[in-house]
Amino acid sequence: MKNIIIFGAPGSGKGTYSEEIVKRYGMGHISTGDVLRAEIKNGTELGRVAQAYIDKGQLIPDELMISILAKVYDSQPEGKGVIFDGFPRTIAQAEALKKMLGERGHDMGMMIELIVDEDILMARLLNRAIEQGRADDNEATIKARFEVYHKQTAPLADWFEKEGIRNIFRWSDNPSKEAMIEAICRGIDAENK
Ligand code: ADP
Repeated sequence: MKNIIIFGAPGSGKGTYSEEIVKRYGMGHISTGDVLRAEIKNGTELGRVAQAYIDKGQLIPDELMISILAKVYDSQPEGKGVIFDGFPRTIAQAEALKKMLGERGHDMGMMIELIVDEDILMARLLNRAIEQGRADDNEATIKARFEVYHKQTAPLADWFEKEGIRNIFRWSDNPSKEAMIEAICRGIDAENK
């Protein structure tokens, strides 16, 4: 299985679709948001530093994020491919990922781009706040996360294109979750043929 990068704004469904893909293909899964939340829960030094940025809706500094990348990647099951969910989020992270994978004879594989209207994203995240109680899902922090996304993360779409990473799914419509998953899986199967 080739690696996959799932790319989109906060609330666009990266986590949800990643879990479906993992279930179907038995791939590894790296969600940097989950990694950081686990560090916070375990009271580590990284968690302590990360908390302050997450609460403000800012990104954790690249050096910190990049410093744990190889360890997290190497802990994934071998040969099954990994889905990167919430990483890379900056050009520096993308360059670091490319280098780390290259050192292992691997590459970024393909990407899935989730495009959703911002008012829908906001409604979803406020709803998630009620369901999951994530502290960074409040209106002020969500707005900061959208801004960070536009400034620091969205420009990566051009970087991926320049690197020749195939975009197997680009959603600008509003199909059902099931229809989305079917379309994504058709794209993944075609790339892995
Ligand atoms: P969402 O995509 O809904 O914002 P995540 O769980 O992916 O949720 O991320 C939550 C927060 O964790 C981000 O707002 C950011 O502070 C931090 N974070 C996650 N991934 C990264 C990353 N790759 N680089 C820097 N910060 C990150």
